[in-house]
Amino acid sequence: MDAMTTTSTEASVRILDNYVGGGWMPSSSPEALPVTNPATAETLARVPLSSSADLDAAVRAAREALPAWRAVAVIERSRKLFLLRHALDARREELARSVTVEMGKTLVDARAEVARMIEMVECACAVPTTMQGRILEDVARNVDAETVRQPVGVCAAIVPFNFPAMVPFWFLPFAIACGNTFILKPSEQVPLTQQMAFEMLDRLDLPPGVVNLVNGGREAVEGILDHPGIDAVSFVGSAPVARLVYERAAKAGKRVQALGGAKNHMVVMPDAVIDKTVAGIVGSAFGAAGQRCMAGSVVVTVGEAHDRLLPPLCAATEELTVGDGLEEQTDVGPVISERARERIREAIERATHDGAEAVVDGRDPGGDLSAGAYVGPTILDGVRPDMEAARKEIFGPVLSVIRADSLDDAIAIVGRSRFGNGVSIFTENGAAVRRFRHEVEAGMVGVNIGVAAPVAFFPFSGWKDSFLGDLHAHGTDAVDFYTRKKTITSRWFSSGQGSGRYFVEN
Ligand code: NAD
Repeated sequence: MDAMTTTSTEASVRILDNYVGGGWMPSSSPEALPVTNPATAETLARVPLSSSADLDAAVRAAREALPAWRAVAVIERSRKLFLLRHALDARREELARSVTVEMGKTLVDARAEVARMIEMVECACAVPTTMQGRILEDVARNVDAETVRQPVGVCAAIVPFNFPAMVPFWFLPFAIACGNTFILKPSEQVPLTQQMAFEMLDRLDLPPGVVNLVNGGREAVEGILDHPGIDAVSFVGSAPVARLVYERAAKAGKRVQALGGAKNHMVVMPDAVIDKTVAGIVGSAFGAAGQRCMAGSVVVTVGEAHDRLLPPLCAATEELTVGDGLEEQTDVGPVISERARERIREAIERATHDGAEAVVDGRDPGGDLSAGAYVGPTILDGVRPDMEAARKEIFGPVLSVIRADSLDDAIAIVGRSRFGNGVSIFTENGAAVRRFRHEVEAGMVGVNIGVAAPVAFFPFSGWKDSFLGDLHAHGTDAVDFYTRKKTITSRWFSSGQGSGRYFVEN
């Protein structure tokens, strides 16, 4: 819908505020988009498309807050995160419902997302340990060398629609734990859950400007990339925008990490434990209606695995219930928008035209689902690696099945993808796993795990077109990303311990 186009019902719903300098304030932009429940097409709110003036106000607040926040003792910063963890935990069910209502995923998926969001805060609480530097005495006689970590400055994150609660928290708690100040630009499709998170942040009594929320779309993003007052940018979203963000932020001299799209393969060996493998594949391909960056979207069957896997996989898929994610019996919720539904249906259409067979076809899921953006789970058999269905990210509940003759063949098929986010292997054969994990070209590997998304304490990110940058999200990489290293070499002439030659004496 055009940014300025609103129906009378939409006009009556609340327009969301930004959170800047410790308080809620309206955007100065007259432009706003409807935020829609994809299960019902109901308009939930309107999100402003903030202008560069709105962003500028947030950057000013974040810069002003920086010296005072940086000076807060690291253990006090960590204690603020303890309080945040407590606040999030107290409202976890409300947060999960918000995720379901604005994004569409089932409550089970949304609860798991909120649990991972909270885990990020728990991990960031360890900052008095993880932010420690290193020291080596006597690099020359009576000369010590020491590396300390200091905050980078004002950091911003630009995030996608598919994890409204968790993905912003891959960044926010780690950034502020390390003494940075922070600006979040949520997805304009799902801005509501972060309004709740910022209500909780507001009650922590952080110095004004430590955390800021600027709603918006492309203009706000471009403002972040170009703004001289922003030192570091984290991005999560589609591959083309990740490239744009990476190039433009780097050109402006910023530290940048850009996590992009994916096409995740799941390799099934002939000896896989089939019932558990089917459950893992179904959860991976169709959970969150296939809209996870770690969703398995291609199954590569090795040899006779194809004939063992396909019948029970199709049967399990046909049993899935499509519906509103708020209903406890729903297995597959809607996709994010009608536009997404049409794009996904067209991708299935093209795959069948290219020669694939829709052995489970979800294009018309049936039932009373006409109001929402529903696509049923779909399995495309007979896909070849050169087909679009094998190469392009569909980002919906569509699973392509490719046959391989051997493990070598399967590893080569995975390696041909331009993406390298997650990959899984299902087998009980340790030697096959050793080969696979050593040779496969991806950043995250699952062994008999359908969604191998690392816990908060490990780094998250792909390879190849799935990631541009070097430091990954969360884990200790987050502390590396959010700190600058400073190395001090020192000696004291009056210490009575003598003095050796250090480099060139003068
Ligand atoms: P998207 O790229 O459309 O949007 C992401 C963010 O970029 C949003 O905040 C949006 O406002 C902004 N944006 C969109 N187009 C822009 C443009 N032309 N210029 C500047 N900013 C722009 O992604 P999405 O549809 O919200 O999310 C789905 C995508 O995200 C999928 O490709 C998925 O694989 C990817 N994703 C990747 C990871 C990962 O860890 N690699 C995690 C989650 C999602």
